Amino acid sequence: MVRIKCSYPKCTTGSLADRKYNKTYGIKNKTLFSVPKDPHRRKQWQNALGRLNALNEKEVVCELHFNTSDIERFYKTILPDGSKVLMEKGRINLANTAIPIPQLTLDADEQSKSLAQNHSQTNAIHDIEAVTDELNTDALQSEITNTAIDNN
Ligand SMILES: [Zn+2]
Repeated sequence: MVRIKCSYPKCTTGSLADRKYNKTYGIKNKTLFSVPKDPHRRKQWQNALGRLNALNEKEVVCELHFNTSDIERFYKTILPDGSKVLMEKGRINLANTAIPIPQLTLDADEQSKSLAQNHSQTNAIHDIEAVTDELNTDALQSEITNTAIDNN
């Protein structure tokens, strides 16, 4: 299995440590979106990521770097009585016009917030790097009870 990691600067989504962390704490892995195939749109993503070199087709960007309005998480159904029902999608969708939030144009406040977030995430990952996969290989012992069978 090929492991793919988010191409956004400093993001750890999709890294082995991130997957391990999610697995340990039962957190759903974040969705990774492939970069657009369209060269013009791919260039927009490249700019948003502040990258000098072109993005390769196989690169991905995770859901953390998009406006929530660009991400569809639910199926919306309107019932005959007018009430709305939201059903969570197994796989979230990204609007086909979505561009990652540019990392260099975040205002100072948002930037410090995202730095704080990155910081706490990094610490959490450090904590779990010490966790080793311990498999309990002790075979379960089944007890056999001899019972007398009465054939008569
Ligand atoms: Zn990411």
